[in-house]
Parts: sequence; C-alpha cells; structure tokens
Amino acid sequence: MPATPAPLPLGTETGSSASQKKRGETQYILRARLRRTMVGKREAKCGVVTRRKGEDVHLHVESDANGAKVTWDGVQLCGHVWSCPVCATRIRAQRRDEVVQSLLAQRGTWRMLTLTVRHNVAHDAKPLVDGVYNAIKAWRKNGTVARWWRENVKASVRVVEITWGTRTGWHPHVHLMVCGPSEITKTEAKKLSDAWRSAVVAELGDEHEPWQQPAGEAYDPTLDVGCKWGEKPLDTSDEHDVANRAARYVAKCGVEIVQEKKTGRELGRMTVWELAANATMRPDLWLEYCAATKGHRMLEENRGAKEARRKYAEEFLGVPEDVPAPKSVTRIAVSADELAAIRQLEVQFPRTLPDLHRCLIGSSDPKEAYSRWILEAFAKLARLGTLYPHAEPESRAPG
Ligand SMILES: [Zn+2]
Repeated sequence: MPATPAPLPLGTETGSSASQKKRGETQYILRARLRRTMVGKREAKCGVVTRRKGEDVHLHVESDANGAKVTWDGVQLCGHVWSCPVCATRIRAQRRDEVVQSLLAQRGTWRMLTLTVRHNVAHDAKPLVDGVYNAIKAWRKNGTVARWWRENVKASVRVVEITWGTRTGWHPHVHLMVCGPSEITKTEAKKLSDAWRSAVVAELGDEHEPWQQPAGEAYDPTLDVGCKWGEKPLDTSDEHDVANRAARYVAKCGVEIVQEKKTGRELGRMTVWELAANATMRPDLWLEYCAATKGHRMLEENRGAKEARRKYAEEFLGVPEDVPAPKSVTRIAVSADELAAIRQLEVQFPRTLPDLHRCLIGSSDPKEAYSRWILEAFAKLARLGTLYPHAEPESRAPG
C-alpha cells in the first residue's frame, strides 16, 4: 500500500457553533449517500453538474468576525425542499427567517393549531399526503371555518410535516400558526374541529377520521388529537425579548432544518432526515416519501402574513444598523476533472465534502490547502482503482 500523504493542517476553526457545523456536515453527507438511492433523479445531480455548460466552478472560502464558511459557485443545485438535504437546509432556513419576520410584523397573539388524520402502517404515503392537502383546502372553504377565519385571523402560516413510524406508518400533519384572538372558546374550538373531521372523512374516508371523544361527553379541547391547539400562545405585542421568543416558537413549530436529535417522540418514529440517513437500508421508504411530497408546498403564508412581513421589511430591515464587517473571500477554481473526482470520491466516502470544507476553513492559505487536498484526492482514487472519467483504466496490482 502506498504511503499515506501527511494529514493536512487543520489549524484553528473559528466562529460557527459546533451544532451549526454539524448540521452543515450532515446535509452534505446525506446528499452524498442519497445519490445512490436517487439515481437518475434531479436530486442525485445536485451539486454535480455546472450551472452553465463550460462554466467554471469555484469554491469560496468566506471569513468574517463570525467565522468562516465554504460555498460553491457555479454548480447547479436541485432546489428540492422536501427531498434534498442540502437544498432543503438552505431554503428552509430562509423560509424560517421569513416566518419569524411575519410573527414579528403581525403583532398579536400567535397560536399553533396542529391538524392530523388517523393512519396506520398499511396506508401508502401518496394518497395519504394528497388527501391531507385536499382536506386542508376543503376545511378552509367550509363556511363555518371561513367565517371564523375572516372574523378572527389577522395572519396565518401553514407548514406541512411528514414523519414515519414503525408502528403508525406515514404521519403527514399540518401546523398552522395563527395570529388571532387572545382567547378561543370551547365552542369555537369544537366547531373548527368538527369541520376538520368532516373534511377528512370527505377527502380520505371514514378510516382516517381522527379519534373523537365518546358521544355525550362535554368537548374537551385538550383531548382533541385531530385539531389540537398548542397550549402556549406567543404574544408578539409584548416587546420583551420578542425576536428570540419568536425564533424559538418557529423552531418548535417544525420549520426546523435537519433535525438532529429525537425529541421525546414515539419510539420508532423518524423524521424525514432520519429516513434519508437510512435510505441505504430502506430505499423504498425514502422514494415513497419523495414521490408523495412532489409538487406540494411545504410552507405557505396567507396574504395577511405576507403583507405584514413586507411592511415590516420596509420599515425595519431597509436600513442596516451597522455596516457589516468586511468579509475576506478566497476564490478557488475547481476544474471539471477535479469536480468529477470529488463526486467520485463522495460515492465511497460520504464525508468527503465536509472534510474538504473543514480543511479549507482550517487553513491560513486555503488555495494551497486545496491544491494539496485535491492531489491527495486523486491519489486516493488511484489507490481505490476507481474508474475515473478522464483517466486511462489501469490494471491493478494484486492485493
Ligand atoms: Zn439539492
């Protein structure tokens, strides 16, 4: 075996918190792993092909007082918010910030309403997910709901999430963040709940109707599993620490990015990113999820929320408070051969990109670090005997 090249200097990493770093790494590792599962799909080519034919690809190493990060310029991203870990992270982070802005822009009492349907392992993802989307539409058009909405809701944001459980199967559910009255009576809650139930039955059938309290019992909103109001509202008219409180509230509502740890959920329930991580073992589940979510919107704001956010942005975000500290950017050219080698390596080592990024961030001379890293990458591919697009196939020495 040839001598292993000396490890590249890692230096000191600055800035970004450990969890941020980990999250950034997770998405690249997941994308690399999913390439094998998503063969032929657009997601599998995310970050592989150049944006325009013949255009150069560059790595940007940006650093400022907050730390350093690496971005890619010139590669085509797939833009899938449901099924690409890298694009989902980017898009969802942006949408999450927008939602926080909506909450801050529309001051008042925000509550979260979660809508669910009954399901079990026998139900396929696609009809279930389609049915849930149709049920939301039908529910909002229902006369009682529409009237209540008109009279009470100043702004709303809807997020659809899907998880999977070994015992319960696919679990598509809807989080609605609603800026409305400070109190919601039991009568109102029951009306909305009944309307949800009938919408579910109409769109998905009796077997999906959420559990209902036995007839004759007084309606108890805390027992309602189909149409459940979150206990703690967020009051954004109270200025105290409002930006942080809003951010935490939104994070809790599931607009979170790559979820890293389980949060006391039912045993065997997985987030989509856990499903992605297991896609090598259960590609069927991952592909079923991708097919079921295709074409659906993950997040939607109503007009009130959009309008409030627009005004807020004009008023508060138009003028930056401080001039941002100068950023130092190192631009490193990546040739087509090098890009191909990196992707080839990624097939065998899903950690390739995070390793490369770390190496660049850690170096005082990222260009030099890149040259060494890419040479080592070519050497590694040669040792593996991997057929490489532009290289002559070599006969490998035995052993
Ligand atoms: Zn992508």
